[in-house]
Amino acid sequence: MTTVDTRTVEHAAALTDRIADRLRSVDYARWRARVEQVGGCLQPIHLTGEFEVNHAATGERLARRAGTVFVPCGNRREAVCPTCSDRYAADAFHLIRAGLSGGKGVPESVASKPRLFLTLTAPSFGPVHTRRVRPSTGEVVRCRCGQRHHGDDPRVGTALDPDTYDYTGAVLWQAHAGQLWNRFTVRLRRELARAAGIRVSYAKVGEYQRRGLIHFHAVVRIDGPAGPADPAPSWAHPDLIENAIRTAAAATVVRRTLPTTEGVEQPYRFTWGAQIDTRTIAPADTVALENEQGTITDAALAGYIAKYATKGTTASETADRPFRSEADIDAITTTAHHRLMMCTAWDLGDLPALGYLRRWAHMLGFRGHFLTKSKHYSTRFGELRTVRRHWQHQQLLDRLGVTDDEITVVNHWNHAGTGYDTDAERALASAIYQRQREQRKLQHAQEAPPWNS
Ligand SMILES: [Zn+2]
Ligand SMILES: [Zn+2]
Repeated sequence: MTTVDTRTVEHAAALTDRIADRLRSVDYARWRARVEQVGGCLQPIHLTGEFEVNHAATGERLARRAGTVFVPCGNRREAVCPTCSDRYAADAFHLIRAGLSGGKGVPESVASKPRLFLTLTAPSFGPVHTRRVRPSTGEVVRCRCGQRHHGDDPRVGTALDPDTYDYTGAVLWQAHAGQLWNRFTVRLRRELARAAGIRVSYAKVGEYQRRGLIHFHAVVRIDGPAGPADPAPSWAHPDLIENAIRTAAAATVVRRTLPTTEGVEQPYRFTWGAQIDTRTIAPADTVALENEQGTITDAALAGYIAKYATKGTTASETADRPFRSEADIDAITTTAHHRLMMCTAWDLGDLPALGYLRRWAHMLGFRGHFLTKSKHYSTRFGELRTVRRHWQHQQLLDRLGVTDDEITVVNHWNHAGTGYDTDAERALASAIYQRQREQRKLQHAQEAPPWNS
């Protein structure tokens, strides 16, 4: 028997009616122009005010825009705003790529430097449901629970026995993962400095695994002491760097004495998981995504990393902001495993020394950044944005036929709201994003950006 949820059908029908109404409304064309300006951003910031360009000598008004404009929300997460997430991924891609192959002010010679792709994992906090495929036969290996899990089974990665799984340890490890990374980089530099005369640059992203714990993926590049333009010394072979990475990772420890919910102090020792993966990055002219030696090419790698950086916790795509109460945790759709991590973070946040954990419960305790890089790796996000702004400004000057020092600019805007008024407007904005994305794809069919594939 098939049952149809009539409420859903009614709701959908009403939405199409509301969309049709919005399309017919008198201000639709103006509204659509605003949404197109922000590429269909799902929660644009509304600004009201004015922008005026005057001729400095004569005072003549050359251009003026007044009223309400939309500004993109700028959210990194794909689930929150696909438009801004696309832009973030594109920026992340260029930032990572420049450090691998040059460009954006980085010399192209970096492509011949020793470079490695590194993955550092979290330790185990108890057995979880697993799905492993035997490479020789393609057969799915039976999990400890006795089942052969399907790839989409939400139980994969969740605790086999929630009663014995160390949720406190997992959340506290996650809260210290950023510090663990910092310690690791100090350690690695020290390992390599023994041989002296080199500089270690990196860019790293965090990616949540299904068990709710974060992995770090990083590009590590070895420069000479003067930075990106300086060749690495000949002894700095990738194998040597790999050894240094493994030694440094194994030796990295963050020690803390932290309170428990039982009112006692407990010593903790946070380390990386045993699983460490390092791969040499092939020179820029390698075409294959991954060749027989298991090395990866620059563009493919930059694309992968950029995409990681736009992902959320995978636990729940609704928890995109801090919880305000325990009721918020109850209200979201997620697995029991991830909810337990959130509740653990929330409960630990009740202790004064761990108060910060409440703000990060929706991130399962992780409070670091999703993309960080060392100072000399490549360009910065801010720099990419500045370049974009200058380009837009130059376009305006060209259109007006003036130079920068011939004009004065009045720019005055106030915040007037955020997002859309109705679900119909949201649906329309989403359609505008889809259409623009399709157009971009057609335009760049030859050089499809890897973060969009
Ligand atoms: Zn947005
Ligand atoms: Zn299982």
